[in-house]
Amino acid sequence: MSQHCCKEMEFHLQEGEVALLYLPKFREYGIQILDGGSSFQEIYYCPWCGKKLPSSLRDQWFNQIEALGHEWGDEDIPAKYLSSEWWREVA
Ligand SMILES: [Zn+2]
Repeated sequence: MSQHCCKEMEFHLQEGEVALLYLPKFREYGIQILDGGSSFQEIYYCPWCGKKLPSSLRDQWFNQIEALGHEWGDEDIPAKYLSSEWWREVA
């Protein structure tokens, strides 16, 4: 079962040769900004198949970790919030 919208997306994320990013914990797709940092421009549609990508869960992520008494950058954020695990189990 594919995790992404199409084989091309799957392939390019795996190969890492195009500047495309996927952040599992936020379910965000983006294009890397070439400034040497880790910033990226979020994208909403797949560049290959044109499908609308699933919506970002960034706000929900912050709501949940804040509800647990954590904040961005805490060392002890539960491990499931560092991957897609936290939203996969509710989905
Ligand atoms: Zn696609």
